[in-house]
Amino acid sequence: MKKHMPEIVGNERLRRRLCEDIREGTLSHAYILEGPNGSGKHLIARQLAAALACEKRTDPLSPLPCGQCPACRKILGGLSPDVITFGREDKATIGVDTVRALRENAYSYPNDLDFKLYVIEDAHTLTTQAQNAFLLTLEEPPSFVRFLLLCENTQSILETIKSRAPILRTEPIPCETMASHLCRTDPQALAFRDSAPSQWQEILLAADGCIGRVKQLLDPKTRKPILARREDVRQFIHACIDHRERGTRLIALGTAQGNKRDDVCAFLLTLETALRDLMLLKKEENAPLLFFPDREEAIAISDRIGAAMLWRLYETCEEARVAIDIRNANIRLTYLDFLLKAGLLRT
Ligand SMILES: [Zn+2]
Repeated sequence: MKKHMPEIVGNERLRRRLCEDIREGTLSHAYILEGPNGSGKHLIARQLAAALACEKRTDPLSPLPCGQCPACRKILGGLSPDVITFGREDKATIGVDTVRALRENAYSYPNDLDFKLYVIEDAHTLTTQAQNAFLLTLEEPPSFVRFLLLCENTQSILETIKSRAPILRTEPIPCETMASHLCRTDPQALAFRDSAPSQWQEILLAADGCIGRVKQLLDPKTRKPILARREDVRQFIHACIDHRERGTRLIALGTAQGNKRDDVCAFLLTLETALRDLMLLKKEENAPLLFFPDREEAIAISDRIGAAMLWRLYETCEEARVAIDIRNANIRLTYLDFLLKAGLLRT
């Protein structure tokens, strides 16, 4: 038998759980679907809606959704009026007005399905007031209503909502799986792999297991700053090994990240990922790498930095990033302090 939710790459457990729950009639009326931008949450929402409506949902030999019946075709084509998306549009948050509109809408009967699925995008941006208003609907929803809250993280979502909507998480997809899927389905990806193989490896790693993110990085405008940051991280690590004019070079690399908090934090986070690879390689030469596309290069670097030094670098780097990101610390001073604490500058 073909697999369930065939449009979704990876995420085996998630797909199996949802489809088994549909078959057994144990699907919850509401779920929170957590995953980073580009991890396929919208795709999962559409596949779930089709699976719920599929005319073959009771046929144990058919995958869900079958993709062929009229209900599947209508939903997968984005044409069903009973799959309804609410989002923040171009605002920073989703306010109570949007939730009130949703509640009003939820009490009218479905058009042609036996359910209505409400997909709430960017649910992590719901204000507290909006969440409390939503809770009233979630506690006593009309029997035909289902909710799927899509979010990047669940930190800002109230416990009262979480207790009524189980959290499902998208799973990161291995680089090789993303590469083979994209080269099979996206001519632009295939052309890029063939014309710039080393950049292709870099964007696969930079995408953190999200296929949608690889697609974004195929656009040169998005790709350029990311690749530049990765190159800066590589230079930082090389400067740590090669002591000549180390301080001057490391200070220049920090300055090159600019004054935006997000950019500096992204640089430090990428550096942490690279350091993590180097630490893991000390223990296991076949450890899965998240930063270095070339294992031989990474092993050679790892051999040249002591374990204690790597650990100190990692800890001080993380400390600096948290100070800049959460405590609003002065960027330049915090960066210099990081270099000092890591033993990379002479006092
Ligand atoms: Zn179907």
